Parts: sequence; structure tokens; C-alpha cells
Amino acid sequence: LSDRLGGVFDRLTKQGALTEDDVTAAMREVRVALLEADVSLPVARNFVKAVTQKATGSAVTKSITPGQQVVKIVHDELIRTLQGEDAPDALRIDNPPAPILMVGLQGSGKTTTTAKLALRLKEREKKRVLMASLDTNRPAAMEQLAILGQQIGVDTLPIVPGQTAPQIASRAKQQAALGGYDVVMLDTAGRLHIDQALMDEVQAVRDIAQPRETLLVVDGLTGQDAVNVATEFDGKVGISGVVLTRMDGDGRGGAALSMRAVTGKPIRFVGLGEKMDALETFDAQRVAGRILGMGDIVALVEKAQQVLEVEQAERMMKRFQKGLFNMNDLKGQLEQMQKMGGMQSIMGMMPGMAKMAKQAEAAGMDDRAIARQIALINSMTKKERANPDMLQASRKKRIAAGAGMEVSELNKLLKMQKQMADTMKKLGKMGKGGMLKQAMR
Ligand code: GDP
Ligand code: MG
Repeated sequence: LSDRLGGVFDRLTKQGALTEDDVTAAMREVRVALLEADVSLPVARNFVKAVTQKATGSAVTKSITPGQQVVKIVHDELIRTLQGEDAPDALRIDNPPAPILMVGLQGSGKTTTTAKLALRLKEREKKRVLMASLDTNRPAAMEQLAILGQQIGVDTLPIVPGQTAPQIASRAKQQAALGGYDVVMLDTAGRLHIDQALMDEVQAVRDIAQPRETLLVVDGLTGQDAVNVATEFDGKVGISGVVLTRMDGDGRGGAALSMRAVTGKPIRFVGLGEKMDALETFDAQRVAGRILGMGDIVALVEKAQQVLEVEQAERMMKRFQKGLFNMNDLKGQLEQMQKMGGMQSIMGMMPGMAKMAKQAEAAGMDDRAIARQIALINSMTKKERANPDMLQASRKKRIAAGAGMEVSELNKLLKMQKQMADTMKKLGKMGKGGMLKQAMR
């Protein structure tokens, strides 16, 4: 997936201005790339639709690096798709002993993940964890968990031959309560395919265990199948989250993208190897970056935007500190406001300007008003702009007429310029440069 998308965006970022056709063509490729990565069709379709809508907006086509803006939009949409609107941030393991039920198909990585998660809870959250294997199907399954438990220093429930899975679950809960454990992890048996026997057993265990979390472990390499398995399990047993394993392999990554959108269940962890520490909290930001294969670009775009703003602001500050603020400066400010969408944002950036920003807002400094003020300034000569004090009645009349406005409006503008020049002068003296500059950073 990342290779495909990387190519699309290489082409996009090289272009200057971006047309709607460019966006449409790029999005067609994004759609194909998603489908090839085994993202389900409806998810791919919705994704492309959302990105196209945002990318063809005026804010993008006017920006300096439209291609990179589109990359960022795709990136942000990836994150939205990956984590949904209300991603939970922690496992519900209050009210000890909190049962965590691990379910999934055989070979998906349930036992491994159970131990990885136990280690994590022990080390990072200082929880006392008891693990129990409920796998009565596979020979040596219980021993596998016991060995892992020894390896990571986490207790396992003693093995009693001949018990059914629900009986073991019940014993595990009792033992956990008696032993003062915070968490009791129940590692269930799987089957090669979803069948009635598997679901019946998991349901029976669930009813006994009353888990606080039911985590479905699925093989991330199986793509769309993983999503289907999740849908099935959620319908029959009810799951609270998903663990995607084998994300260290060169999978196509589509499972992660469809999972949340199709099942509505959050991915909580990803398995990144066979070792006990190879488990990470699911981080949509990181996965989106990985899918795009260009996480750096997004950071770069964000940084570039900040740098541009700071550079511009510093240049202005130098002039202002000298008490210079003529009509050219005002025009620059007004144009900046137009670009940045309003008075508040730019004035809010400047120390001591908050009050003025409020006044300006009250005075109706919306986009249209700003455009009219710029028209007035455009109607002045070079000399007049640099030295607005020279504006007498006849000049005022000429300028106002040139812009198709009343002299009263020009007077308002002049008053504003004067106020701003005064403020700048004061601020400049106050800080001798240093303070003001610091405040800008
Ligand atoms: P279970 O049948 O669901 O309990 O699956 P197991 O936990 O026994 O795991 C099956 C195999 O997958 C084992 O060899 C694990 O080491 C391996 N495995 C589990 N998780 C991962 C993972 O995230 N990455 C890789 N590469 N292998 C994994
Ligand atoms: Mg197992």
C-alpha cells in the first residue's frame, strides 16, 4: 500500500498549482491502491469521497504547496478512518480482579498476545496478573501458556486435567479474587474456521467470566478476512476491541483500515513479532504515516507552515519596533487576515492586540470589509501609502471616489492605521525588541 500511495503523491507534490482534475486523477489511484491493499470497497469509496471533498476546497487550491496539502488531507483522513471518532484510551481493568477474555481463530496469536499483554500490564501499569489457558482442544496449549508465564514472571492458573473451558474460567476468577490479582486473563481455544462449536464455547465462557474487556486477536496478514472474522465474533460474542497480529510482516495493511470502519470496534494493540515485548498500543498516527510511507512529509508541511508564519511575523516586527506602520503595512496585514481567515487569528498572535481584535470584530471586520479597506489603500499613490499623514481633504475625496466609497470610510481606515502605528511604537519601546520578539515565538 505504501509503495502505491507514495508514487501517487510523488507526482502530486511536484506540481505547482493543483487543478480539480489533478485531484480526481490522484484519488482514482488512491482508490485502486486501497483496493489492492485489501481495503473493502465501501470503505475505499467513502475514504476517497471524503478526501476529494476536502481537497477540492478553495483553501487547498490557493495554498503554496497544494500537492503537500492533499497529502496531509489524505493523512488526516487515514487517521480518522483508523481510529474512528471516539477511540478509547485505556483498557477497563478497574474493579479487580478484572477479567480480560481473549478470543479468536486458531493460530491468530491469542496465547502469544495474552502473555505479551500480561507482561505489559505488569511492567507498565504495575498490575498483578493471573493468566489461565482455557484451551482444552490443542494438546500442550496449556503448557505453552505456563512456559510463557514463567518466562515473563506472570502467574498462571495451575492445570487441572479434565475440566471444561467454562469450569476453568470459573476457577480462574475464584483464584484471582482469592489471590488478590488485579487482572485475570482468559486465553481461549480457537478453531481453524468459525463454527457453531467454537461460538457456543466462547459464549459459555463469556457468560461465566463476565469480562471487562473481550479482545479479539486476528492475523493482520489475512486482510479482509480479518475484518469478516471480527464482524462474526462481534455479532455472536460481542467484542470490545481488536488486536492485529503479524503487523511486522509485509502485509497489505488493508485490515487495519477497514477494521474500525466496518466493525465499529477499535484496534487496541498491534503485534509486531514473536518476542514478548513485540506488542504496541495501536497508534493511528503512526500507522497512517506507515501506510503513506511518508510520515515525514506531513510533519514537514506542518513545520513549513509554522516557519512561514514566524518569518513573516519577524519581518513585520522589525519594522514595527522602529515605530513604522504605514498604509503598506496595514495592507499587508489586511491581506494576511484575508488569507488566514479573519482578524482574530492574526491579532491574537500579537501581544497587546487582543482588545483591538475584539473592537475590529465589533466593527464588522469581515472578509468583505477587509476587501473594501484594501481597495481604499489601492486607490492611494505610493507616496500617500508611505506617509498617510499627508492626506488632506482633496486627496481623501479623490481616494474615496477612486475606490467607489465615502470619505467617512477612508477616515475610519486612517484612524485604524494611526491606532496601530501608536500601539506598535509603544510595544517597540517597551521591549527594546527583545520582549516583543520573544512573545512572537
Ligand atoms: P493461538 O493459536 O491463537 O494461541 O496462536 P499463538 O499465540 O500460539 O501463535 C501462533 C504463532 O504466531 C506463534 O508461532 C507466534 O509466535 C506467532 N505470532 C503471534 N503473534 C505474532 C506477531 O505479532 N508477529 C509474528 N511475526 N508472529 C506472531
Ligand atoms: Mg493458543
